[in-house]
Amino acid sequence: MIYQRHMPSEELFSAQLEMLMQNGRLATVSIHLVGVFATILMFWPFMDLTIVLLWAAAFLILLLVRSLNMSNALVERRFQTNPRRVYRQLIIGAGLTGLVWSGVYIQAANTVPLTMQYTFLLLIIMITALSIGFSVVVREYFIVSVFTSLWPIAWWSTVHYWQQPYNLLIGLVLLGLCALLVFVSDRVYQSFRNMIAMNWEREAISQELGDLTGSLRDRNRQLRDARRQLTDLANVDELTGLGNRRLVNNALQEEINRARRSGAEMSVIMLDVDYFKLYNDTYGHPAGDSVLQKLADIMQRATTRAGEVVARYGGEEFILLLPGASTESALRTANRLRELVMEEKIPHEASLGEKFITVSQGVVTARPDADLLPADLVNQADKALYQAKGAGRNTIKVG
Ligand code: GH3
Ligand code: MG
Ligand code: MG
Repeated sequence: MIYQRHMPSEELFSAQLEMLMQNGRLATVSIHLVGVFATILMFWPFMDLTIVLLWAAAFLILLLVRSLNMSNALVERRFQTNPRRVYRQLIIGAGLTGLVWSGVYIQAANTVPLTMQYTFLLLIIMITALSIGFSVVVREYFIVSVFTSLWPIAWWSTVHYWQQPYNLLIGLVLLGLCALLVFVSDRVYQSFRNMIAMNWEREAISQELGDLTGSLRDRNRQLRDARRQLTDLANVDELTGLGNRRLVNNALQEEINRARRSGAEMSVIMLDVDYFKLYNDTYGHPAGDSVLQKLADIMQRATTRAGEVVARYGGEEFILLLPGASTESALRTANRLRELVMEEKIPHEASLGEKFITVSQGVVTARPDADLLPADLVNQADKALYQAKGAGRNTIKVG
């Protein structure tokens, strides 16, 4: 097994105390309460009623104090913070309660009739035996209650065997009973401990499995994010922030598939800066770079419809993919671009045409069939662009 966990002994001890108090708090009070009322009913005709009532009141106070003490220990979780103290108090409480019963028995012997005395003894045995159910989870607690309530009676009866007819028998039977209860309680106690430890271990394992599942989920999310970032990086042109050739090729393929299914048209514009080599030669490469960035901004502004893609195809060539666009519509976009670039009036003294930056564009429109490839569209657009260059630049040609 991978996850073998053992409950630490201090935790097991605290859990035993908690279980004893949780199960035993009400049971202790109610069992003894029944005992007190039964005692009053049995003894009042034979003993001084005031003494009986005083005894009952004192005993009830003891029970109340014990019950309150257990409640507080549970609420304040003292069984975890100070288990030794809780343990001591529980043992002292059990001892005092047991001594009350054996004390009353010894006191009442010779005062009440024998039948009453034996009935009372049965009551004490019953109370002790009943309490095994909840108290044996802390073995010492149980043994202390047995030995304080039954042992003195057994001892007293054996020693005073001549006083009453069955004293010796009672003494020996009680001694045997004590031994039996100790033996039985040992077995029950061990199974209680095993049960608590097993529960704890099961919880620890499920907690660990939960943590593990959580961290695997986090890891998966991180991997997914990283993959997405990598894909983004692989598709983005560093200089302009536009899509790159890879992105536009994928987008073209997707759009061809979609247009083929729907029977729609699509247009592609290929754009190239005029006399750009001369620009670089005149103003330097970095200045050329910022021209490319400006042009990228313009192209992005000019393409606002959903699905339109602008990408830097290479060097100073750009591609615009216009899904659903007819030739007229694509020409409108191309003209708008041409004007926007001219409006920018980026000085280009070395140009053989206008004295500012201009662009040439090739437009192609298709209604894709099964054979059309992205490269076909790009080639046609490139040819149209070539014609535009041939026509004197700063122009648009349809392929
Ligand atoms: P044409 O009007 O025929 O297009 O003339 P041209 O000088 O623009 O010719 P061409 O398109 O072949 O020129 C490409 C030039 O673009 C060459 C190179 O100096 C420049 N270029 C390509 N990539 C970059 C880049 O990333 N930054 C800069 N600054 N210049 C680039
Ligand atoms: Mg070029
Ligand atoms: Mg050029």
